[in-house]
Amino acid sequence: MSRKLSRRGFMGAALSGAAALSRHRTRAADPSGHAPMDPAILGGTPVRKEPFPSWPVADTREENALAEVIRSGEWFRVGGKQVDRFEAEYARLTGSAHCLATANGTSALLVSLQALGVGPGDEVIVPPYTFVATVNVVLLLHALPIFVDTDPETFQIDARKVEAAITERTRAIVPVHLGGSAADLDTILEVAGRHGLPVVEDACQAHLGEWRGRKLGTWGKTGCFSFQASKNLNAGEGGAILTGDASLVEACYEFHNNSRGRRQRGADFTYRTSGANLRMTEFQAALLLAQMVRLEEQAKRRDENAAYLTGLLKEIPGIRPARMYAGCTRNAYHIYMFRYDKAAFAGLTRASFLKALRAEGVPASPGYSPLNREPFLEQTFATRGYQRIYSKEQLAGWRERSSCPQNDQLCGEAVWHGQTMLLGPRTDMDQIADAIRKVQAHAARLAQAVS
Ligand SMILES: *Cc1c(COP(=O)(O)O)cnc(C)c1O
Repeated sequence: MSRKLSRRGFMGAALSGAAALSRHRTRAADPSGHAPMDPAILGGTPVRKEPFPSWPVADTREENALAEVIRSGEWFRVGGKQVDRFEAEYARLTGSAHCLATANGTSALLVSLQALGVGPGDEVIVPPYTFVATVNVVLLLHALPIFVDTDPETFQIDARKVEAAITERTRAIVPVHLGGSAADLDTILEVAGRHGLPVVEDACQAHLGEWRGRKLGTWGKTGCFSFQASKNLNAGEGGAILTGDASLVEACYEFHNNSRGRRQRGADFTYRTSGANLRMTEFQAALLLAQMVRLEEQAKRRDENAAYLTGLLKEIPGIRPARMYAGCTRNAYHIYMFRYDKAAFAGLTRASFLKALRAEGVPASPGYSPLNREPFLEQTFATRGYQRIYSKEQLAGWRERSSCPQNDQLCGEAVWHGQTMLLGPRTDMDQIADAIRKVQAHAARLAQAVS
């Protein structure tokens, strides 16, 4: 039986032009009856046995940085030095005039929208292909998220469709630089400018990413970053707002610091605005300053590996890596994304493809599901507050306005590799491509066997 399977595997490999498989082919069948070249999920030898690079990366630099804060007794940003130092460093690194550190990326977005005056009754334009936080902040302000469909080639918000979503109630546009690639900022900024609308860049996945040679997060009215554990710059939790607007950064500071201004004296208990506590701690900032030393080198490694991987994957029928807009001069590669077309894999479903790939030692995930279809959205709109603020017609029209057919399709076809998979040697990329080609070579058999 193994001989017959091996032969089929051989033919499949030959058909897909998978030269890498020849290594497996020449090995003898093992006593279990499985040929080593069989798919790992059917008992064959996996393409890769070692784990991909782990995350976070840290050593005595981080340990010393934290110990220093502990010993200093200055654990609070007001009076401490670390957060101030981080803000100055991050502004310098990104070429931004101002930086405000926040507790996390969600609060960076919330503070930005609040400072720009977004509130009940307003509409905010968002993409459906993003982490839920992008939309949650709109709901926290009792505004209405309006979804604009995804560009199927780039997986970013389709900038050509933004203008049609603008009404007299629109108060802000929040493009996301998803996966660390860039949304089409030329088009978005042009449309926003013509309508007098602020752009808040959700750059939570896009540290050191660039548009036309300038850092992502510095193009909009504000740019928001996350330093949550999975992100390319990591302090467990953390966030930052970039802006070129001196009075806006003061408004942001005041809101994130329970109504207290940057220069307000401790004994002064009078206030001009409402606020919240969304501050970063000295520990987070110390960790970020240490992690930032590694950031450029890691970004370079990801970029080089991703470019090489794209070259390999483009050659595999049915695999289409996410395209970048011409203006995206640097992709931060928080996520490596491609589309999977099961027609080129003998009808093997994406779920089975992912299982088979993982069995080969290559982690992969299906990514986001359609956010605009989440039932919690309409449940939120059914609450007392939303019912009071928005008319029945407005809420009834929301569903139709927010339909995103391209995104629905993408969510059924996308495959993601996380950023840490891009941090190893180039041979890791060869193994990712080998594993995909191997699954393709055996796709017909896998489609029968794996569910
Ligand atoms: C991570 C992330 C956020 C939220 O950041 P937190 O630090 O987790 O609050 C927002 N938007 C996007 C696109 C993200 O990836």
